[in-house]
Amino acid sequence: MSMNGWNGRILWVDLTDRTTQFESLDEQIYLDFIGGKGLGAYLLFRELGAQVDPLGPDNVLLFLNGPLQGLPAPNVGRWTLVTKSPHTGLFLDTHCGGPLGREIKKCGYDGIGIRGRSEHPVVLVIDGNDVQFEDARMLWGKGTQESTRTLHDMHKQGSAVFVIGPAGERLIPIATACCELAHQTGRGGAGAVLGSKNLKGLVVIGDGKIPAADVEQIRQINRALTKGWNEKTDYGFKDFGTPFLVELANSRGQFPTRNWRSGFFESHEGLDAATMNEKWGLGRHHSCPHCVMRCTHAFRTEDPSNPGSEVESTVEYETMGLMGGNLGIDDPQGVLKLNYLCDDLGMDTISTGTIIGFAMEAFERGILAEDDVGFPLNFGDVDGAIRLTKMIANREGIGEILANGVKKASEQIGNGSESFAVHVKGLEVPAWDPRGRRGLGISYATAEVGASHLRGWPQAVDMPEAPASEVMESLIDNRDTKILTDSLIVCHFTYHLPLEHATKIDLLRAATGVDYSKESISLFANRVETLTRMFNIREGIGRSEDRIPPRFWEKHPNGPAKGLAAFLDEDDFNEALDRFYELRGWDKEGTPTPATIQRLGLDLLLPGPTGRQSL
Ligand code: SF4
Repeated sequence: MSMNGWNGRILWVDLTDRTTQFESLDEQIYLDFIGGKGLGAYLLFRELGAQVDPLGPDNVLLFLNGPLQGLPAPNVGRWTLVTKSPHTGLFLDTHCGGPLGREIKKCGYDGIGIRGRSEHPVVLVIDGNDVQFEDARMLWGKGTQESTRTLHDMHKQGSAVFVIGPAGERLIPIATACCELAHQTGRGGAGAVLGSKNLKGLVVIGDGKIPAADVEQIRQINRALTKGWNEKTDYGFKDFGTPFLVELANSRGQFPTRNWRSGFFESHEGLDAATMNEKWGLGRHHSCPHCVMRCTHAFRTEDPSNPGSEVESTVEYETMGLMGGNLGIDDPQGVLKLNYLCDDLGMDTISTGTIIGFAMEAFERGILAEDDVGFPLNFGDVDGAIRLTKMIANREGIGEILANGVKKASEQIGNGSESFAVHVKGLEVPAWDPRGRRGLGISYATAEVGASHLRGWPQAVDMPEAPASEVMESLIDNRDTKILTDSLIVCHFTYHLPLEHATKIDLLRAATGVDYSKESISLFANRVETLTRMFNIREGIGRSEDRIPPRFWEKHPNGPAKGLAAFLDEDDFNEALDRFYELRGWDKEGTPTPATIQRLGLDLLLPGPTGRQSL
């Protein structure tokens, strides 16, 4: 293939028999699915039949880049991992910072697909066309920080390093993996899929050139956005990164507080970003390459496993929410320690914070006793939260049950605990309470991965005091933008630059030379979302799974959203869901219609005249 923006080939690695293959994809596949999430949706759907065990050798890991990686575009130092989630059993795309995607692109691949299972722990070392399976037994059991540093010492300068920690090795379904010390594949347990394959990580370096149709136009867009950003003053995101959002979320009644019993944390001032920066900010960052915004600020803290040590914690808003307010913790050092611990063990802070908050409420209600936990577990208890985090990672005591996430843990613990287990389709909810924003609950209910804050926001920022169906068109528009963002692959925070949807399409055109339009991108986004829906339908998902947790039907007891639930009532929720399905071309059960499948060209991926039979 001689197109710009793409290399035209995928590297396939089989860990069982240690073989490699190169696949040249048809040009039309690139045009239809672009890269990142889109290309991953195509490949995962093609590669996996229904009911494949996510932790078995037949699951695949897809490391993907997009048309912009390696080009001088803004905030494209990111990449995508697609697999079947061991946490939800559904489609999973997770997006990570760091240079791995760029190096894969420079090796001459648009992605790397990994199948099988190694006999013993290995690290995959890829240098252009050369692929080595290095023994990783000496790294097994080590945290992500030490493993990353060791692999850097062992390999060429400039290599991109990506590893799992002990949680991934122990197949904890909320396990993450870490790129270059500070960037995580956060949601859905991709780290456990690496662990199941005995794959400790990847080391990748390439030296190829990335072709672009019009690199000067990309540079021009980059220069203009960088100039605008540099001229911004007194801007929270610029000064403090995402922790500045604590105040914003709290002021809208969206800040998770004590296992989501409220969206208003009365002690929020304790988590003030400016104070945190002043006291513990190290004045440096671990930002993604090609980033003009540099949000990943480093803070000084102590490794809870090594008292007296000094380590860097690169905390984000989501962790401030789920391991701060949601645990009733207003001590920033407590959150910084928990964040470091989770990153080093390789565990999702959103899920871990929700699980611990759930356990704290169960303890408060007497559903879990001190004998069950091993110690008293109260909201606000930093040491208790640290202890429980380690127990989850080690599957120790009650940690064995909690490690499976709030859905399965509540089913096992029973006694009514399902009513305060906060998840969608098994995935714990990110730090934005839908009781503070009209229609947001539909984004959570319909997202293919389970509750995610990266699957589109309704345009209205008003409280849920009017019909949610009225804002569904704006949700679809924003979801389309997110799908493009995750397929190009550009950082989501670029809305702060601001990098508009139309400019993203300009960048795509400049990279590939293909004349994409707003209309063709809408079609593309619907194609990707409908294909991931088809994947999930094969796994048994339908309308009855597109719902919000019971907690979001409880009215807020205090704060700016006092007296409000996520929707006016059940009818409001159902009408909004109907409207969402209608806009996507799905029927009342949330199943894509034959006409939609055909219009999007997805019938070609399925056996039978319409493909519908296999759904
Ligand atoms: S803004 Fe933050 S997450 Fe986005 S590319 Fe820059 S450093 Fe990475």
